[in-house]
Amino acid sequence: MKSLALAFKQSKKLIFCIAAAYILCVIVCAIHISDVSKDNAESVKEAVEGDISLAVRMTQSIYSDVADYVKTCADKVASAGEIDINTLSSILASADSSNYFKKTLYIHGGHAYGEDGIDNSEQAKLIMQTILADGEMMKRNYFIDSQDAAGQYDLLIPVKVTDARGDEGIFVAVYDISEQFKLSTYTAVQENVQLYMIGGDGIILADSKNDSFKDKKLTSSNFFTRLLTMVDGSNSSKTLVQELRASIYKKEKHEAVLNSKLLGTDEIYVDTISIRDADELAFICMYDFKSLAASKNKTVTRTWFVLGIILLATLAANIFIWNYLRNVTSRIEKMAYVDDVTKGRNLNYFRNEAMNIVKQYSEMPYLIQRFDISNFRYLNEAYGHIRADEILKACVDIYDEIYSDREVCVRMSSDQFVTLTINDTDVDKKRDHYEAKINEFARSKGIRYPIRLKFGIYQIRKTDTDIDVIVDRANVARKSLARSKTEFLAVYSDNIVQNMRKTEAIEADKEKALQTGEFKVFIQAKWDIINDCVAGGEALVRWIKADGNMVFPDEFIPVFEENGFIEKVDFYMLESVCKRMAEVKEAGGTIYPISVNQSRVLLNNPDYIEKVKSIFEKYDVPREFVELEVTETSLADNKEHMIGVLNDLKNEKVRLDMDDFGSGYSSLNLLKDMPFDVLKIDREFFSESITSSSSTLILQKIVEMASGLGIEVICEGVENQQQVDLLKEIGCKRVQGYFYAKPVPMEDYIKKYCKVG
Ligand code: C2E
Ligand code: CA
Ligand code: CA
Repeated sequence: MKSLALAFKQSKKLIFCIAAAYILCVIVCAIHISDVSKDNAESVKEAVEGDISLAVRMTQSIYSDVADYVKTCADKVASAGEIDINTLSSILASADSSNYFKKTLYIHGGHAYGEDGIDNSEQAKLIMQTILADGEMMKRNYFIDSQDAAGQYDLLIPVKVTDARGDEGIFVAVYDISEQFKLSTYTAVQENVQLYMIGGDGIILADSKNDSFKDKKLTSSNFFTRLLTMVDGSNSSKTLVQELRASIYKKEKHEAVLNSKLLGTDEIYVDTISIRDADELAFICMYDFKSLAASKNKTVTRTWFVLGIILLATLAANIFIWNYLRNVTSRIEKMAYVDDVTKGRNLNYFRNEAMNIVKQYSEMPYLIQRFDISNFRYLNEAYGHIRADEILKACVDIYDEIYSDREVCVRMSSDQFVTLTINDTDVDKKRDHYEAKINEFARSKGIRYPIRLKFGIYQIRKTDTDIDVIVDRANVARKSLARSKTEFLAVYSDNIVQNMRKTEAIEADKEKALQTGEFKVFIQAKWDIINDCVAGGEALVRWIKADGNMVFPDEFIPVFEENGFIEKVDFYMLESVCKRMAEVKEAGGTIYPISVNQSRVLLNNPDYIEKVKSIFEKYDVPREFVELEVTETSLADNKEHMIGVLNDLKNEKVRLDMDDFGSGYSSLNLLKDMPFDVLKIDREFFSESITSSSSTLILQKIVEMASGLGIEVICEGVENQQQVDLLKEIGCKRVQGYFYAKPVPMEDYIKKYCKVG
């Protein structure tokens, strides 16, 4: 889990790094492209200016040619001497045929003369009016509406003439300026650049019909009116337009940058260039710098576009990878943090969370509880794993129901649980309530078997930091209960640790102890209370260590039963007893039957019968000299099998004692089904009988019934005369207890009772 979290963290870092590196690249590229586009923008401007100046120069030169030619024609009239109609007509005809002009006129004496004489046409009248209106202040050019098409203008170039007689007239050439304009601008001016030729206070004589400035609102025939429609209307913009207008009168080249909301751009360049020698005749060039720069800069645009696509694609890829990783991680986290059986949290979660909670609520005293269900195996076998799993799930659910959200319970494995629980004053009550609720649930599921939880508890200290260590400590406490049938709760303590160490030492030293003969046979005599004499003995193992310290079976037998070593000990005891009794018999001593304890583990060994037989045969011990003791509880587990084993022993004529009768769930049925010769009544059962009359009665009935079945009864743990008297009263003939004899080394027993040694 840790490595998973780390992997995700690292991937996150990696994604961040890639994204950062990418954004850096984009910024560098953007700066670069912006430089390139700036250069390009500059070069676009230069190109536009170059184009315009070419167009202006062409127009300029043609205008001066035309103006010169008009002058030449005028000079012809002036130098013609006497002007008569014919001379005038021929001069005008030759001018007209030059193809420079649409037509030529000579205004004299209130008439306009054309090549055909007096021209009384409306156009001629208009020309005459226009030119004569200024009188002496005649300009170098005038403009009139062209008859050819609406919105088109003709340029009039008038030249004053004084003829030979001293009469004054005006020679006028009508020039098709729009045609000329087209010629000048057709190839020279770039797309997206609008070029206007204006005259007479802004009248548009011709334009380059640029689409980008075509707008319905820009319909005025006056350029400056159009411009005012187009700009944002602010005072500063109006001033700029006025300055442009003035520049034409001053014949200055002028440039302004305007902001047009109408066209959606803030960088409209307007340049005015006056035509030399012409009055009010000027070029105006107008272009949207940005779109021009952009359209002229397709590579840059394309690069921006590609960069944008890559940016989006990378962003999308990063988002996708990010989401994917997040999803995968959350799925794995879920898998890693959820317990399959209980659907609650699992140990991984607990390990991550427990210490966080403890730190967060540091003022709270916290416990770790490790618990399991005693005899869970039985629950599984008797009720099936589905119902057993329901109980496991209930353990978590009920915990969550009863305890606060600052407390956690998770299943670790099989029937093992761990909890983080607040150690308040109610902790014990709550634990009992918890267990009661689980039992309630079990009953509701038809499970009648009582569910007992075994708790190992560890009180977390401020100095504890490692969750695994503290869970282990709670587990050490829990394990200390493993062999106890009566204790269900243990708190971690030094004592428990010491015991744990002892157990470990027992495990480690056992083989060597067996080889070096540290296991010794002790015998406790059994007594005939009717005749007051010895009636036999029970072999009890003692572990006498090299240093002389004696270890009692209560300490090591449960350990050996768990690890199976008890088999070796039991056979060792049986063989030692058989061997010694054979020797005693050989030596002519008195033999009383000695019973030897046989553990449940031993009885499950398939070679058991053979081995017992071989020991008996090896030492040729009469069967009545040695008895085998089997505890009542070891029979309960696998009854059929045990009956089989006991019957096999019986067939070998081995005498059998049922040990510890009355210590477990006593069943007289066992006596009926199993071939026992002796019934040993447990010390606990017997001591109760002393104080309770009903127990005495039961004891009496057991003795009677056993006698009826031909089974001998021995009462264990007799410690005083009072007990002996009671036993006599109820018909018990034999006893075993400290009142008569304590367990003593076998050699002492032999010396004392067998009269050899
Ligand atoms: P057990 O078979 O019930 O043995 C009787 C135990 O009661 C012995 O304890 C004995 O010393 C004790 N005892 C006898 N009379 C009295 C009395 O008047 N008062 C009291 N308080 N105790 C009395 P021990 O020797 O410590 O053995 C304990 C248990 O260990 C035995 O109980 C038996 O179950 C097991 N055990 C002992 N030796 C062997 C062995 O060789 N093999 C196996 N499998 N188990 C053994
Ligand atoms: Ca015994
Ligand atoms: Ca016993």
